[in-house]
Amino acid sequence: MKLTDIQPIQIIKDALDEFKGLSGLSVNQSKSEVFCAAVPAGLQAQILSILQFRLGGLPVRYLGMPLIAGKLSYADCVPLIDKITARISSWTGRSFWTVKIPQDCTWGWRKLLNLRPAARNLLSYEIGDGSRIFLWHDCWHPNGVLYQPNGHRIVLDAASSLCAKVSSVLHNKEWCWRPARSDDLVEVQSKLSLIQLRESDRAVWNLNTSGKFTIADTWQHLRMKQTEVQWWKLLWFPTTILKHSFIGWLAIKNRLTTKNRLLQWGIGVDPLCKFCSHQMEDREHLFFQCSFTNRIWKVIMALCLVSDAPADWKLLIDWGILHLKGKSFRASLCKVAWWATVYHLWLHRNSRIHGGAY
Ligand SMILES: [Zn+2]
Repeated sequence: MKLTDIQPIQIIKDALDEFKGLSGLSVNQSKSEVFCAAVPAGLQAQILSILQFRLGGLPVRYLGMPLIAGKLSYADCVPLIDKITARISSWTGRSFWTVKIPQDCTWGWRKLLNLRPAARNLLSYEIGDGSRIFLWHDCWHPNGVLYQPNGHRIVLDAASSLCAKVSSVLHNKEWCWRPARSDDLVEVQSKLSLIQLRESDRAVWNLNTSGKFTIADTWQHLRMKQTEVQWWKLLWFPTTILKHSFIGWLAIKNRLTTKNRLLQWGIGVDPLCKFCSHQMEDREHLFFQCSFTNRIWKVIMALCLVSDAPADWKLLIDWGILHLKGKSFRASLCKVAWWATVYHLWLHRNSRIHGGAY
């Protein structure tokens, strides 16, 4: 706004105060700035004293980066790079693997530090001059991390220090350890000839041949692996409707909370099927044997031009594995219809039990 006097600023300030009084929400003064252009210095000082904000400068920054519409240039990123470099420099001399978790650190940093045991054996180092690699805590030796099996004793035996770098025992590509004072150290030194020295120090992610970190390799390494089930393609395929397949997956695993299962858990419920009120509700009855659902199932299968689909979970899965292979339109249509039927029958059953609208 173009300012000639201070009155509009006072109105803004009063409005903010009134909003605070009504809602309890106040402006964070440490995060608020006033941007002035062609405003006389005297007026500028008055504005700042009324609003109690700092005087800001362009460009506006968020998380250290300028908020600009164009492509970020190197110059735009320099402040952030300086900040990160300063943070890393403050770590010089401390190993990531041994630093204690600070009491007042962020949630993210705490999580990261807690994951160290899982990541430790996935990272090794190739030696250049050794100036960036910790002698006792990084994995650069054929024996692995030297501190782990040997403990502090080996550091003393080598007359070294905990935060020593590999460069302390490597000069001009030549190993220069002090004479070994223990069998463990003799063993460590005897394997140094196996290490191929490189141009420069390099961290190697051990899960692939390139040595570079990838999320995919790491996920494959960390995740729990089970034997692949034959029926997964019945549920998960390109045109699948995820919420339908999810209920289908629970049904295949017999994990839907059907009444027979609730009774097994000691929960007192009316055991009868809500559709026919004649038989106990279990997975087989609910989706296929019940007169109500069986009729629906037959109609849906007929629309898919299927006449021989069994009305039994196990047989149906075996039938699907055999007959609904591949990515053909018919196979996809049958599978989509199958899981949509299961999903909507389950929803309808729930609405009848809980009295909701369907
Ligand atoms: Zn029934």
